[in-house]
Amino acid sequence: MADGALSAAARGGWGCTILRMAETGRRRGDARASRLLDETYQRLLSRYGPQGWWPSDGPFEMIVGAILTQNTAWTNAARAIAALKDAGLMSPAALREAPQSEVAEAVRPSGYFNEKARKLKAMAGFLGRYGDDVEAWRAMAPRELRAELLGVYGIGPETADDIVLYAAGLPSFVIDVYTERIVRRMSPRRRLHGYAALQEYFERNLPRDASLYNEYHALLDAHAKEVCLKRDPRCGACTLRDLCATGRKALV
Ligand code: SF4
Repeated sequence: MADGALSAAARGGWGCTILRMAETGRRRGDARASRLLDETYQRLLSRYGPQGWWPSDGPFEMIVGAILTQNTAWTNAARAIAALKDAGLMSPAALREAPQSEVAEAVRPSGYFNEKARKLKAMAGFLGRYGDDVEAWRAMAPRELRAELLGVYGIGPETADDIVLYAAGLPSFVIDVYTERIVRRMSPRRRLHGYAALQEYFERNLPRDASLYNEYHALLDAHAKEVCLKRDPRCGACTLRDLCATGRKALV
């Protein structure tokens, strides 16, 4: 995604988040949390730049990628995507018509291939109810679409939010292990446990903006992969260290 495609908020131009939230009246967040999230975002954007998520050739491929990357690295999902394309299976209609065994063979590189083939066929069936057109989702409320997606075989909260945000372009903040790791290290006193609590933390304290959520999630992932590592986080090299409870302690 080019920088020009970001909304003003996603470019870090929302200025004072709290003021904006007061103006819109759409959020009753916690002022400290809003300031922390605002500052964190601006530093990560400055450090890593726009991330251009989600890497895909269109919304259907994005949805397929969200399913294939479950429990595996993106590189494996990307290999399965390429195999699906080579097999002529990268469309909802082709996935519906193909035997599950054929789909499974194509997505073998992503692991759990029988399960994932079943999930892809279920998603293709779901999309068929909307004329195979993701555009039809854009008129829905994010919570409504999310609830529908959660009813599809194999779609959990993270994959549903990925699809709502990156395929439909609707604001639903995505939580993953990287986000959880960073938030818990930065703000351990908040005791934010579980997907719903973490998602509410972001959504209550940020402007409701799909472009901002898109970029923020991608930046957190970049930071967790490069600096806030699972073992031995590189606090000395971290742009967030003065904002982070763990980082401040580590550097005393
Ligand atoms: S200071 Fe350390 S623990 Fe905190 S976000 Fe940075 S790398 Fe992670």
